[in-house]
Amino acid sequence: MVKARCMRCREQVEMKDKTEKVTKNNLRRAAGVCPKCGTKVSRILGKA
Ligand SMILES: [Zn+2]
Repeated sequence: MVKARCMRCREQVEMKDKTEKVTKNNLRRAAGVCPKCGTKVSRILGKA
C-alpha cells in the first residue's frame, strides 16, 4: 500500500483505489482516495 497525506484528515493515510500515472515532467505519481473521508490524494513516487 502507498501512503499519502490527506489534506482533509491532515494525516498519512493508506491510498485506496490507487492508480499510477506518469506526469509531463516524467515523474511517477500515485493517485487514489483517502479511505476515511474519500478525498482524492496523490503522491509523487519518483522519476519514471
Ligand atoms: Zn481523509
